[in-house]
Amino acid sequence: MHAPWDYPDFDDHEVVHFVTDRDSGLCAVIALHSTHLGPAAGGVRFWHYAEPGEAVRDALRLSRGMSFKNAMAGLPLGGGKAVILADDRRTKTPQMLAAYGRAVEGLGGRYVTAEDVGMTVADMVELSKQTRHVAGLPVTEGSVGGDPGPHTSYGVFLGVKAAVRRALGKDSLAGVHIAIQGAGSVASGLARRAAAEGARVSLADIDRGRAAALADEVGGEAVDPEAIMTLAADVLSPNALGAILTEQSIAALNVPVVAGGANNQLAAPADGQRIHERGILYAPDYVINAGGIINVSTEYLKDGDEGRVRGRIEQIPQRLEQIWSESAATGRNPAEVADDMAKRLIGR
Ligand code: NAD
Repeated sequence: MHAPWDYPDFDDHEVVHFVTDRDSGLCAVIALHSTHLGPAAGGVRFWHYAEPGEAVRDALRLSRGMSFKNAMAGLPLGGGKAVILADDRRTKTPQMLAAYGRAVEGLGGRYVTAEDVGMTVADMVELSKQTRHVAGLPVTEGSVGGDPGPHTSYGVFLGVKAAVRRALGKDSLAGVHIAIQGAGSVASGLARRAAAEGARVSLADIDRGRAAALADEVGGEAVDPEAIMTLAADVLSPNALGAILTEQSIAALNVPVVAGGANNQLAAPADGQRIHERGILYAPDYVINAGGIINVSTEYLKDGDEGRVRGRIEQIPQRLEQIWSESAATGRNPAEVADDMAKRLIGR
């Protein structure tokens, strides 16, 4: 049996709450990694874990990731993450959500919850009946909020352009070949914007119908999901799964740039070094994909309008440039440089 501080993912988390509610059957972990910059913000995941220790590990790892992401996005927010341990049928009841909402409220604003895997906007509305400390609620006219996907896409698009500028010396995506993994919310926004600028788009999704429809729409080409990671192109943009950059997949990459919105692309920290050693320019995922959290943060803190959100997203390329410049100056890989910058920002 592990104590939380014995987990490899424990990183001086400020506090880890274990929440149970007998009546509803709620069992949850709320991990607050850092509140140095502000309330710890990050989504709540609703997931069936084969082993409860995995839930603790996820909460520890993901909350640290949120500290880094929020800091690098320039937000006045710390990092936190919650997981609700679901049964194997993923039974989710209103009572369970209410109990979780009360637990969040009980933290008095030190943690702000939001949507993550297994949760929906409707669930956030349920939570908002119990707590004020929830973001990602439906937008009312004229206010900031709603689906973070399009905002994430916009930031990824700008990040891809910055990478192309740096690695290929091109100011426009015209004629640039982008291989996109995924055809979901983030991928489709990127594909549309890139195609509108004249990029050649190849894309793949395990949902082949979805890939074909998007390819049709943007005048691109749908390719086999197994082929996308090794396609000869100018950019690989992962916008589906995490942990896709492994020793094997990095060895087989056929692109000078990897820049996409998927979370946790590097399977292990050593993969950041591997990709760097292959001479491939990598955009650290939590920096390039911060558009969604920027929107969520502005909604929760009520500290700006659509224009402010856009302005903050438009700083993503600058932040990437800073990372790549420091990487070039020091020889250290961009993933490591980004982690160090984030740690400095959160006072560690
Ligand atoms: P989504 O569910 O809309 O789309 C994901 C797509 O990936 C789906 O169409 C799915 O079929 C496809 N997919 C799954 N496995 C695949 C595989 N092996 N090969 C090819 N395609 C595969 O999700 P999304 O919101 O677009 O998010 C995409 C990624 O970006 C995720 O990693 C997510 O964590 C990350 N992200 C999203 C946001 C956001 O605002 N939506 C913000 C930050 C990070």
